[in-house]
Amino acid sequence: MTRRRFSPVFLVHGGCGGPPASKRQLQAIRDALSEGYSLLLKGEGAIEAVEKSIRFLEESGFFNAGRGGKLQLDGHLRLDASLMEGKRLRAGGVAGIEGIRSPVSAARKVLEESPHVLLIGEGAARFGRFHKLAKMTRPSLQQIRLHEELLRSQDPWMKRFHSLIGTGTVGATALDRSGTLAAGASTGGVNRMLPGRVGDTPLIGAGVYADDRSGAVSMTGEGEGIIRAGSAREITLRLEFGATPRAAATLSLRRMKERTQCFAGALILSKRGSFAIVHTTAHMIGGFRVGRRMKVADRFEVI
Ligand code: ASP
Repeated sequence: MTRRRFSPVFLVHGGCGGPPASKRQLQAIRDALSEGYSLLLKGEGAIEAVEKSIRFLEESGFFNAGRGGKLQLDGHLRLDASLMEGKRLRAGGVAGIEGIRSPVSAARKVLEESPHVLLIGEGAARFGRFHKLAKMTRPSLQQIRLHEELLRSQDPWMKRFHSLIGTGTVGATALDRSGTLAAGASTGGVNRMLPGRVGDTPLIGAGVYADDRSGAVSMTGEGEGIIRAGSAREITLRLEFGATPRAAATLSLRRMKERTQCFAGALILSKRGSFAIVHTTAHMIGGFRVGRRMKVADRFEVI
């Protein structure tokens, strides 16, 4: 029996809800897209492509993830990330991790080297150190400056919480040659977070989901709304029941907006390789690559 070969598809995002993308951000997205897609072309698995491209964006420092992550109100850099693979529903995440340079690589270790799905705080950091993941010693000057600017702003933070979404979360979805799907995301959270705040990004079913029987989804936007809507799983279920990626995401993001007044964006990739990038914000930074078709932009389907 010959095994069916799939044409690889790769989608990547650099967050929604912020201003138009900078040139450096668009270039980083282009590079992350090329990196992920070329791994898929070489026959690497979807999880490898998703992890490596997200790690590249974490490293770039141009996004709210990894080296560029936002500080919480007490000045600590606590980061969230997760990854899921659709063949056997394997998943791993870290929440509030400190001192590890690539949270998405820590999430992959949780997926591959532990019996668990989610590790938090110091336990997650210890696990990362045990696996000899690269350390991040302290927040950069740029991160401290941004944090201080936010603290100096006069508006009561609760009021501005929703308008100060931490733009630049990163994520990716992939379909590899064997038909396996994967999804992942990594973030520094939102602006003016209370210490200990965790968003949707490390939560499987909220920020990330992948199932080879339906599709792969990576979310960005207001975590407080995405968690309450259960977005990533909701979108894949809609795919399973026959909706197109665009319809599944549109229905889901509209429901979230209506029920929680929160905004979001999503990368949606179906098990057959059809896809959409949909957002309820003015901008979403991202791109896709399938065969010769490639696009990198800061606006896709606004609903
Ligand atoms: N979803 C992320 C969070 O709430 C933020 C973002 O995507 O911009 O932590």
